[in-house]
This record gives sequence, C-alpha cells and structure tokens, in this order.
Amino acid sequence: MRIICVMNQKGGVGKTTSSVNLAAGLANAGRRVCLMDLDPQGHASLHFGVEAYDDTPTVYQVFSGTHTLAQVRQIVGKNLWLVPSNLDLAAAEMELVDSPDREVILRQAVKAMTAEQPFDYIVMDCPPSLGVLTVNALTAATEVFIPLQPHFFALQGLSKLFETTALVNRRLNRDLRVSGILLCLYETGTRLAADIADDLNTFLNRSDPNCPWADATIFKSRIRRNIKLAEAPSFGQSIFSYAANCPGAQDYGSLVEEVLQQEKEMEACDEADAPAAIPMSRAA
Ligand code: ADP
Ligand code: MG
Repeated sequence: MRIICVMNQKGGVGKTTSSVNLAAGLANAGRRVCLMDLDPQGHASLHFGVEAYDDTPTVYQVFSGTHTLAQVRQIVGKNLWLVPSNLDLAAAEMELVDSPDREVILRQAVKAMTAEQPFDYIVMDCPPSLGVLTVNALTAATEVFIPLQPHFFALQGLSKLFETTALVNRRLNRDLRVSGILLCLYETGTRLAADIADDLNTFLNRSDPNCPWADATIFKSRIRRNIKLAEAPSFGQSIFSYAANCPGAQDYGSLVEEVLQQEKEMEACDEADAPAAIPMSRAA
C-alpha cells in the first residue's frame, strides 16, 4: 500500500487538482484508492460533488475521535472512496493543541481502516500550511508528492517544506520519503519551467543521500495549463470523466502511468532486498 501525501504550503499550485485526478486515474487503472481531503476548504470533496453539510460526518469527526475513517468515507466511483472535509476541520488545528497524540491521530485511524479493508493507494490532499493537519498527513504517509508551479519564486519555500519533512522523518516516521515533484500549471513554450527543473535537479543531486528527498524524481509528466482542469470541479467530475481527450487528461494520464511504473520499481526493489534473492555466498 502506498500512502501519498500531496503537499505544498503554497496555495494554488495544483495540490487538489493533482490529488483528485491522480486518485481517479489510479482507480480507473483498477487500483483501490481512498482520497482524503485534509483541507478545511473541502475543494477535493467538492471536486467529486460532495458538499459536506452539517449532518455529513467528515474527517473532522475522525480528528475529534467520534468516528472512524470507515464511518466517514463515501464511495464516489468505481474503486474510489473519498474521506470528505468541510470548514469544521479548521477548528481541529486549535482543538488539538493540548492533545498529546495530536500528530499521530491520522496514522492510527489509517491503520485501523486498512486493517479492515485494504487499499492500494491512499492519497491525501493537504491544506496550504505546515500545521498539525499536514503533520498528521506526513506522519501517516509513506511518501510525499510536491506539486510546484514553475515560476520565479517556486523554489522559495521549498526548503521549509523539506525541513518539515525531515523533522517528521526524524521524530515520527522513519520511512517517509519525498518520491516525486510535479510541475503543474506549466506554460509550454517558456524556458522558465525547464530552468526550474534544472535548478531543482542540481539541488537534489547535491543533497545528503540520507535525507528524505535524496531519491525524489521530478516527474517527466508536466501538467500543462488547461482550462478543462479548472472547469471539471464544477461538474463534480475528474478530468477523465469530464473531458477524456483534453491535454489535462493526457497529462494526468501520463502521471498515473509514471506512478504505476514506480510501483513496479518498488516491487523489484523489495524482491532484490529479500534475503532469498541474492545468496550470501554470491553476494560476498
Ligand atoms: P491548490 O490545491 O494547491 O490550492 P488547486 O489544484 O486548487 O491548487 O489549483 C488552483 C486553481 O488552479 C484551481 O482553480 C484549479 O482549478 C486551477 N488549476 C489547477 N491546475 C490547473 C491547470 N493545469 N490548468 C488550469 N487550471 C488549473
Ligand atoms: Mg487545494
């Protein structure tokens, strides 16, 4: 099971659009996927046409301890479940201040849910901050995807984001890795995106090999600016249902393929790590 935290403390960089369409694309590919909306703005929920009114249990109830994830998730498509959110979640940040377990609530909830019903992927759409909700997501995750909008200030703030990942890695989640950086809202025909990708590559190559982002890849798929991606949420649909042949669907389709390719590479790695794969006599 891969638990992917889609994070960037900046707003408007493509977190929600990427979480939603990645989750939908993986579900279309036959994976069992649970998308968790961890943003009080509830955009990922709205994207699937779920408007969580007062009587709808949301992830807020999971943070307050009255509901389990299994009790709040809804099925929103074939192979696809949504844990919705709404503005109530904004209160969680304050309410959790005095709770000693505040950083591990989501991890425990995910553990309980998946023990009962397994998923291939859990995708978590984070709010635009590095507060307790994002820390919960990082603590529960196995990996982090960072959507970036390639403009001049894109790399500014990235170090803070990496620091937070490193801190959670040290204190709460030894397995946490940044596995992918995704260029979103990409303008074709400009040098800027290519320059940013180069700068980022240089930065990653110079990083300490033990840090959580040492093996991060910049996805080859670039998500071009495409108006259909901005329209799809108002129809409560993923880009694959709303406009299956538009550039946005092609770009997210190719991201899904890369993510599935990573899955194969991880399996190959696991097999190589298995003691039976390399007899000690030959390894020596
Ligand atoms: P975040 O979750 O990081 O705040 P969103 O995914 O909500 O960012 O994107 C911000 C806005 O930009 C939304 O209105 C969304 O519909 C739009 N958007 C995101 N990606 C694209 C794209 N590739 N092309 C056009 N509009 C996009
Ligand atoms: Mg968002």
